[in-house]
Amino acid sequence: MPDTPPRGTPKDGASDAAYSPPPPDRFYQLLVESIQDYAIFALDRTGHILTWSAGAARLKGYARTEILGRHFSVFYPPEDLAAGKPARELEEAARTGRLEDYGWRVRKDGTRFWASVVITALYDELGALVGFAKVTRDLTEQRRETDALRESEARFRLLVESVRDYAIFLLDPEGHVATWNAGAERIKGYRAEEIIGRHFSVFYPAERIAEGFPQYELEVAAREGRFEDEGWRIRKDGSRFWANVVITALHDPGGKLVGFAKVTRDLTERRAAEEQARDLAAEQAARAEAERRGQELQLLSEQLEEQAIELEQQREEAQALSEELEQTNEQLQQALTEANDARQSAEAAARRAAEASRAKSDFLATMSHELRTPLNAIAGYAQLLDMGLRGPLTPAQRVDLERIQRSQSHLTTLINEVLSYARLESGAITYDIRPTLVASAAENAEALVEPQRVAKGIALEVRVPEAAGQPPIHVLADQDKLQQILINLLSNAIKFTPQGGRIVLELSTESDARGMAVIRVVDTGIGIPADKLQAIFEPFVQVGRSLNSPGEGTGLGLAISRDLARGMGGDLTVESEEGKGSVFTLTLPRAA
Ligand code: ADP
Repeated sequence: MPDTPPRGTPKDGASDAAYSPPPPDRFYQLLVESIQDYAIFALDRTGHILTWSAGAARLKGYARTEILGRHFSVFYPPEDLAAGKPARELEEAARTGRLEDYGWRVRKDGTRFWASVVITALYDELGALVGFAKVTRDLTEQRRETDALRESEARFRLLVESVRDYAIFLLDPEGHVATWNAGAERIKGYRAEEIIGRHFSVFYPAERIAEGFPQYELEVAAREGRFEDEGWRIRKDGSRFWANVVITALHDPGGKLVGFAKVTRDLTERRAAEEQARDLAAEQAARAEAERRGQELQLLSEQLEEQAIELEQQREEAQALSEELEQTNEQLQQALTEANDARQSAEAAARRAAEASRAKSDFLATMSHELRTPLNAIAGYAQLLDMGLRGPLTPAQRVDLERIQRSQSHLTTLINEVLSYARLESGAITYDIRPTLVASAAENAEALVEPQRVAKGIALEVRVPEAAGQPPIHVLADQDKLQQILINLLSNAIKFTPQGGRIVLELSTESDARGMAVIRVVDTGIGIPADKLQAIFEPFVQVGRSLNSPGEGTGLGLAISRDLARGMGGDLTVESEEGKGSVFTLTLPRAA
């Protein structure tokens, strides 16, 4: 029989009347020999090859002539031969009628192939074993694919199982744990045998289970393919961890849900780290804020301190000022009190002085009046004697009488002046003030003192404006009083100026600072000591007057004169140099 399969294609039997099918044995032979994908051959009872097919030749590489009669163990690898596998297989097949095996076989060229082998025992009609039918199929290709798949699955499983950072496991459609990995064990604390078969809700806190959350997760994952969540999960020991969970629905090629893949990650540390980072950031922000606030407060406090210092300074200044003011106030108060006291005592003194003055004036007036009556009597009787009515007088008696008469006259003058001063002091004097020509008053006064002046040989010059051809000057004064003042000043000048001296009565054409008319009586006399310049205006004050030289004036003339001047709104003052002369200045208001 040829080694190649038969080429002829059977004609359509229905249409070819000449066709007749081969006998059944031949048909079987053709069938077996033609099949290319299987090596189909027969062995005798001991395992020697009896027939060979086209498929066997193709599979194993032996030509029919090469292989017929040889033992089938030639197809086994050395390790199977060493283990006695071919004989054992035949024994098994003989015993049970059939043996199926997968294993490596060897081709003629020594290469191996993965074979599926079925050995079937063949019995004759009497039931005696006659041999074996052996059908071998080359499954190398399928085997390779299966191996690859298995390898990849194994690798994948290994990978999944060895992942420690993620809990990766499968759930069945109802949520029971189907697989477990190292990560799951590490994160959740269960070993595979403890957890497989249990429902995955054991990983959830009671409140979430009560809400039906695990079931909800599966429903969403089944509907949408995927569900992701972050939340608290429970370990075997009851402790909690913060988990990121992704549940993925698994479907078979027909679209039927076969379970879920669940990947869980423990984020507790990350969450803690995040919280820590957040806390830290918040703390830093708070610290920065506090620092900033602190700096602001510091600045504010410094400003306040500066202000406080300034205020303190101001307060101290104010304090000092207030103390100073208080002191000043006290001083003023004291001064005021003193002034008040002084005023009061001055008033009292003035009152007392006025009272004393009035009493003195009253006394003087009474005295003068009382003295004048006996003086008049003295004058009258002296005159009787002088006229010789009491008989002729001897020369000695006449000298005595003249002395009596002179003394009487002096005493009368004195008494008149005292009376006049007393009346002045008591304010009893009245003034007949009218514009008065100074020149005429001066002329009258000059005439009255002339005997005195001539007797002493003293020159008198009266200077009035009209004498120089200038307009006359009138003053507002009582003519008699003005005349009395001028007489007094001129007679004093004559009295206290040595023989041959010179007197000037001058009416100035210029007014003084107050606009008053100025009348001066200037002499070249003995002058007045500086310490007496004020005193001479006091009553009864006479410079160098001794008790031994009576009859020379009264000491009342200047006092009366100044009072009269002041009574008419003017004044009387003196300037003098001892031994050189004096200047008495009378001022009076000018008539317009
Ligand atoms: P009396 O002339 O009556 O003494 P007065 O009051 O007129 O009184 O003068 C008082 C005194 O002033 C005089 O006693 C004299 O000492 C002095 N006195 C007045 N006028 C002059 C003068 N022109 N020169 C020197 N002394 C004078």
